[in-house]
Amino acid sequence: MPYPRYYDAEIEAMPALEIRRLQLQRLQRQLDYVYACSPFYRRKFDAAGVKPGDVRHLEDLTAFPFTNKDELRASQATAPPLGEHCAAQPKDIIRIHSSSGTTGRPSYVGITRADRDGWIQSVARVHWSQGVRPDSVVAMGFGMSFFVGGLPLHDAIEEIGATFIPVGTGASDRLLSAIQDTRANMLLCTPSYATYLAEYARERLSLAPDSLGITRIQSGAEPGAGVPAIRQRIEADWGCTLTEGIGNADLIPVYAAECDEKSGMHFLAPDMLLLELIDPDSGEPIEFTEGAKGELVATHLQRECVPLVRFRTRDHVVVWTDGCPCGRSGVRLRCVGRTDDMLILRGVNVFPSAIKDVVMSLRPRVTGEIQIVLEQPGPRVEPPLRIRVEHNNSTSGLETLTAEVESTLREKLIFSAAVELVAPGALPRYEMKAQLIHRAYEG
Ligand SMILES: [Zn+2]
Repeated sequence: MPYPRYYDAEIEAMPALEIRRLQLQRLQRQLDYVYACSPFYRRKFDAAGVKPGDVRHLEDLTAFPFTNKDELRASQATAPPLGEHCAAQPKDIIRIHSSSGTTGRPSYVGITRADRDGWIQSVARVHWSQGVRPDSVVAMGFGMSFFVGGLPLHDAIEEIGATFIPVGTGASDRLLSAIQDTRANMLLCTPSYATYLAEYARERLSLAPDSLGITRIQSGAEPGAGVPAIRQRIEADWGCTLTEGIGNADLIPVYAAECDEKSGMHFLAPDMLLLELIDPDSGEPIEFTEGAKGELVATHLQRECVPLVRFRTRDHVVVWTDGCPCGRSGVRLRCVGRTDDMLILRGVNVFPSAIKDVVMSLRPRVTGEIQIVLEQPGPRVEPPLRIRVEHNNSTSGLETLTAEVESTLREKLIFSAAVELVAPGALPRYEMKAQLIHRAYEG
């Protein structure tokens, strides 16, 4: 018997109108719960003069205030560890995760039993759309501890019935030997780590990565897998299919992922999360239409412990609404960058991942590794933008290569760069999220 096409056919292929009906029903119930149980939201709603009963259509939610990450941090400082936005009783909380905390102090996210079950559902749909089946053997190359890309992924893979190999980061030798010994055919890791691990296998162990039997890599946690040149390189290195997923520690660990069409990530949790698109500067709503761009805003439709309403994800996405041959009905999206990483050069918004994509198009004369050097805090940068680019051991033609990288960047991304070529291997490699920006002013 072949496996079914979807993990949850009812939700994944549900017609748009029915989804909206389900969302409205759940939104109304959720707002009642939040207002009753979360002191943080009761105060926010009262201050904005809105009440849960005001919501008669999904669009009515736009009258409600946004929630941003700084507010959540302040809320946790006032009422540690989970904050005044926590709506659950301590006895009902079964786990506390930390959000990865790349900037500032870590923030914490709690879940109840029901929250965990919702996470498992969403993440299982995500893995299924990326090819995980009960007979898959999945090696884990994301960090296992604390991070929401650890245990929740494990829970969902075991729920599907696939075999999970919990290795984590920081142990490339063990990860590679575990892949060989267990005959793992899938690998979960960031795009940067997939690239690093392929180099590591080749250079340190004289192993061809495409001989290891990995047929699929599932990526996430940083924009990259959706960038064409990065995807092509990883797929060629490993001889595999690379798909990506996206999630958020404060929302659901992974709520959207690509299918084999690789044409954007299907939003797979419309029964748990309501998504909005907004203009990141004005906050005005943007309609979900083919090719629309904006910042993603999300509201939990069912969450007990730390429910969020109109949370600004700081993820800048492009969305697609036309049909996908796989039959999944929700919108598809791709993250083009995060507010935190965005640079503004004379009014032009530039994301580091886009710079990396352009540089990678010049392979094999460059390795594809880059480092952006900021002399002063962003996001506004006075051009030219300093970028270190690894050349690929060419002994001649380095001056023309410098000029070519600069002109390609100017042409494709409309900003001027000052490129400095560095030797192959000179730039740092990363197991988790790649740090493409070096802040020279921090010493
Ligand atoms: Zn699809």
